[in-house]
Amino acid sequence: APVDGRTLEEVRRAITGWNGYGEDIDFDWRTVGEYLDRLDRGFDGRGIAVNAAYLIPQGTVRALVMGWEDRPASPEELARMRELVAQGLEQGAVGLSSGLTYTPGMYAGDAELTELCRVVASYGGYYCPHHRSYGAGALEAYAEMVELAGRAGCPLHLAHATMNFGVNAGRAGELLDLLDHALAAGADITLDTYPYTPGCTTLAALLPSWASEGGPERVLARLADPATAGRIRRELEVSGSDGCHGVPVEWDTIEVSGVADPALGAHVGRTVRELAEARGEEPWEAARRLLVEDRLGTTILQHVGHEENVRAIMRHRAHTGGSDGILRGAKPHPRAYGTFPRYLGHYVRESGVLSLEECVAHLTSRPAARLRLPDRGLVRE
Ligand SMILES: [Zn+2]
Repeated sequence: APVDGRTLEEVRRAITGWNGYGEDIDFDWRTVGEYLDRLDRGFDGRGIAVNAAYLIPQGTVRALVMGWEDRPASPEELARMRELVAQGLEQGAVGLSSGLTYTPGMYAGDAELTELCRVVASYGGYYCPHHRSYGAGALEAYAEMVELAGRAGCPLHLAHATMNFGVNAGRAGELLDLLDHALAAGADITLDTYPYTPGCTTLAALLPSWASEGGPERVLARLADPATAGRIRRELEVSGSDGCHGVPVEWDTIEVSGVADPALGAHVGRTVRELAEARGEEPWEAARRLLVEDRLGTTILQHVGHEENVRAIMRHRAHTGGSDGILRGAKPHPRAYGTFPRYLGHYVRESGVLSLEECVAHLTSRPAARLRLPDRGLVRE
């Protein structure tokens, strides 16, 4: 049966066709409940090896109701999104996530997000945004989420709460002051970080949001058109794309970590600047060609973090360990599998940034409390 008038194939293309994720997975679930049942079954009928607490992805809800359209929701569309969020929470999700530098989630304004957060709060869930900027405007973007969650009366968990890019070097204290102020005023806020400086995303995610409107085929057409591609380039390299956190891109900080097309495997482990130099072309041209040839499926590491920021944030009392892992590509970011050993090995044993007891709390009781798991995370009678 179709979902909101779309066939299964259309829904599948709208979600997985975007970046090649999941193309080898039998995409047989249609709801949060069916997805959780699928995890219970696993691939061999014996379930998965880890526990899962699932967040409803706001961008997916918006794609189901509105497609990839860059406009505000109508009252009817907002009502349908609220219904889908309520349904997901009833079926076992623990909250709502957002990717607000990713399309189509970023097309949602604050009023729309606030309405969805009210539904989340009414079920006792929490909102977990990847907010609108981790670069230029990061502090404003954090403040926006704190205000939005406060308006909705919704608990807030800030995902991978980093302060990245040159503009934020040494500014972790300003983020922590903002959080301390809100916590002192009674807000329910937690945050997580991964214990590494590089970030990880897709190459296509860096594009301006207007260039991603309408879905993957439209993006590829824009990249093939010289005038439009030139406009994308100017935004990326000069003014700063919203997909790249408002910061002009530095091509030597972007390293290819995975490709969708195995024929492009030799690109993995090299920066965009290195790829360009090897062919005697401009970095933008190398990036554009890779996006087109890999049909937007390329994943990247972004070397834009600051060690002093990472250390300051991981010591905050509302902090929990997180991986933000993307297990994809030939050389995935090590945070996908190394986060917990690195907290305990590097930041406790070698660097002494955290005491063992403090770090164990970051990795156990604090996330368990956010997930409202009363029988996990503490040793007690
Ligand atoms: Zn993110």
